[in-house]
Amino acid sequence: MEKIRLGKTGMMVTRLGFGGIPIQRLTEAEAVKVIQKCVDLGINYIDTANGYTTSEERIGKAVKGRRQNVIIATKTFPGTAEDVTKNLDLSLKRLQTDYIDLYQFHGVNSETLKHVLDPENGIYKVFEGFKKAGKIRHIGITAHQMDAAKEQIKTDKFETIMFPFNVITSEPAKDLLPLCRQHDVGFIVMKPLAGGMLNNARIAFKYLLQFPDVVSIPGIEKASEIEEIYSFYENPEKMTAAEEAEMQQMIKELGNRFCRRCEYCQPCQQGIPISLIMTFDTFVKRMPVARYMNNPMIADSVEKAKDCIECGECETRCPFQLPIREILKKNYGLYEQIKAANA
Ligand code: SF4
Ligand code: SF4
Repeated sequence: MEKIRLGKTGMMVTRLGFGGIPIQRLTEAEAVKVIQKCVDLGINYIDTANGYTTSEERIGKAVKGRRQNVIIATKTFPGTAEDVTKNLDLSLKRLQTDYIDLYQFHGVNSETLKHVLDPENGIYKVFEGFKKAGKIRHIGITAHQMDAAKEQIKTDKFETIMFPFNVITSEPAKDLLPLCRQHDVGFIVMKPLAGGMLNNARIAFKYLLQFPDVVSIPGIEKASEIEEIYSFYENPEKMTAAEEAEMQQMIKELGNRFCRRCEYCQPCQQGIPISLIMTFDTFVKRMPVARYMNNPMIADSVEKAKDCIECGECETRCPFQLPIREILKKNYGLYEQIKAANA
């Protein structure tokens, strides 16, 4: 598999990587098997996070004895110095390794970036300490908001950025990739299948294959899935006219309903976490039921959909003109169904 240089990290990574969210839904034996399948195929980039429950531990088991063959990227939310130190030590233990190749600040917006880079007590300094101690090799960041991502790249503090990019969320092609190239920041594609919303993987990856300097990390659950996606990379083909037409149809249908989690719709006078509820169906597609229904951060947030007074203010602020009120209702209905089925 073709490798590319991941920005200023200088690491040579396969253009296709492994996203470690959906393995949480599998048994441990199944998860280990699917990860090993990816490594057998030559995929060398594995992404996970401290917050993905069993994911790190399963990856650690799967790559034991083959650590030198893989580049491991994990992440932590930027809490206190104590939190991130504890999280890194836990990640190292779970991954059965003494170093992380790429350690990323998880889900940073403009506000948390200030906390990360604060000259006095910023967490970035703590990450630099990890680097000096040899516990991590490179520092990256992940974001969902375009303005925040641009700001992060321009600081020249981060060697990589992970951002959603796919047929539907195609804005990075124009707005972020050129900036990454200018600052030599490696670009990691989050949600290449739009969080499970894109059913046609062939079209989704043919679209991304146009960009030779990005690494895509689809969430993989089955060996057959990675084999199929791997074949797109090994035998890259141009999109046919019929596929192009299907892609345009997908953009038309999903583009008007797919939340990019940019948060421009906020603030909501009722304190409703709009983007989380808007993307609840993607949790359902990718995660085990217990992971979202027993997680107060998710379940309690979805419950807040009940407080919507349908003022419509959020819709006037959404740059993608999404029918927020309608989707909130639909996803709340889905949540209620799952809750009833698991009561
Ligand atoms: S329509 Fe509902 S979610 Fe949107 S701003 Fe009003 S109360 Fe908040
Ligand atoms: S609803 Fe619209 S504005 Fe709000 S997070 Fe989603 S895409 Fe952004």
